[in-house]
Amino acid sequence: MDDEDEEDELDEVPGRLQTICPYCGGGGMVADPKLTIVGGSPRTVDNGRSCGHCKTVGHFPGIVPPL
Ligand SMILES: [Zn+2]
Repeated sequence: MDDEDEEDELDEVPGRLQTICPYCGGGGMVADPKLTIVGGSPRTVDNGRSCGHCKTVGHFPGIVPPL
């Protein structure tokens, strides 16, 4: 039994575990709707903003339990 460290090249299986950021869902950006007045009428503008939880990376190394 000496073939335990044999590594197959499987791209579908990551070599290390990562946790997707629950805030942005892995996109690194979160919704940030703002109510603004454009031309005298109220409108909702959502430019989004960078996720401060994961620093826009979208995931964390290892397993991070949900808060
Ligand atoms: Zn995030």
